[in-house]
Amino acid sequence: MMEKKRIYLSSPTMHGEEQRFVQEAFDTNWVAPLGPNVTAFEKEMAAYTGCGHAAALSAGTAAIHMALRLLEVKQGDVVFVSDLTFSASCNPIVYENGTPVFIDAEPDTWNMSPEALRRAFEKYPNPKAVICVHLYGTPAKLDEIMEICEAHGTPVIEDAAESLGSTYQGKHTGTFGKYGIYSFNGNKIITTSGGGMFVSADEEAAKKVTFLATQARDPARHYQHSQIGYNYRMSNVTAGIGRGQLLHLEEHKAKKKAIYERYCREFADVPAIQMNPMNPKGDANNWLSGMAIAADSKVTPDMVMDALEEKLNAECRPIWKPMHMQPVFASCDFFAHNEDGTSVGADIFGRGLCLPSDIKNTDEEMEAIIRTVKELF
Ligand SMILES: *Cc1c(COP(=O)(O)O)cnc(C)c1O
Repeated sequence: MMEKKRIYLSSPTMHGEEQRFVQEAFDTNWVAPLGPNVTAFEKEMAAYTGCGHAAALSAGTAAIHMALRLLEVKQGDVVFVSDLTFSASCNPIVYENGTPVFIDAEPDTWNMSPEALRRAFEKYPNPKAVICVHLYGTPAKLDEIMEICEAHGTPVIEDAAESLGSTYQGKHTGTFGKYGIYSFNGNKIITTSGGGMFVSADEEAAKKVTFLATQARDPARHYQHSQIGYNYRMSNVTAGIGRGQLLHLEEHKAKKKAIYERYCREFADVPAIQMNPMNPKGDANNWLSGMAIAADSKVTPDMVMDALEEKLNAECRPIWKPMHMQPVFASCDFFAHNEDGTSVGADIFGRGLCLPSDIKNTDEEMEAIIRTVKELF
């Protein structure tokens, strides 16, 4: 029997222009962790997002690490971080021997709960930073979160790894906090195969990150180092892929939005299905379309994922498992959204899943996915 074609969750979509920039790098022999594509990609990203200044790095995780380094997080420092996220949001806290404290999600956007954040500040009035994630591309409640953090004088790092192209009140996610980060991992809305970016309105901060990410070499002819550095810089070849991809980001966003809106339309008559919520103050990039199933439904997320895998060879994914439920973070403190201590993130994890959201999925494939899901209910 012939294998059915795989329907992807979110795979790279290349356009050809990427190769032009990569070819340029080869033609000029700029095959190095710096070069004209890197500089141009930083400038083009800064122009697109309005972030001010950017430093292209080898990964989004590296960008979070560098943001924490600039804030001088060290042994015992508390850092608040969104609980319903990928582990890359919080791993770098531990690289610096800091202490992650997890902040629950709220039901309106599935992002950091301002209520839980307030409670966390009551117990820990002086965290070193707050890392706020924009889950699946939906902007968090930035007004409330920024106000709370500003009142405490705590810097915000926006983990906009999933939300490049999303805006909140017309301004790009990643540009609200003191520092922001983007990811160009293979499954993100645009990709360089792997890569990330640190952004800030503060030019000195971006310069400092570039310095630390190239082994913290002092400006001297002999190799001299006064600080510990990292090999975190993006290569001129991968930056070329990024430049080509950036030309198509708005197009990717429009296609992702059409996928999300189609799911919303088609599932509107299935009361047990709730699509992942949007923030009315924002415009999401709809990186991944997610759904949650009513608690009293006989259908489980596993049943939906199994049906799509088995019948259509379609790739789904569970909702990120909350960080406070991870064995590696079992000893960390957690602040719930609900006053009774129950976790909104754990609830979404238990009832939710991510649907195939690849912009190359055809009309027929989308139809088959929707039909297969509906048949279960
Ligand atoms: C992908 C992702 C990251 C990490 O980005 P990499 O480029 O893979 O290191 C960080 N945070 C979130 C929320 C992500 O989804």
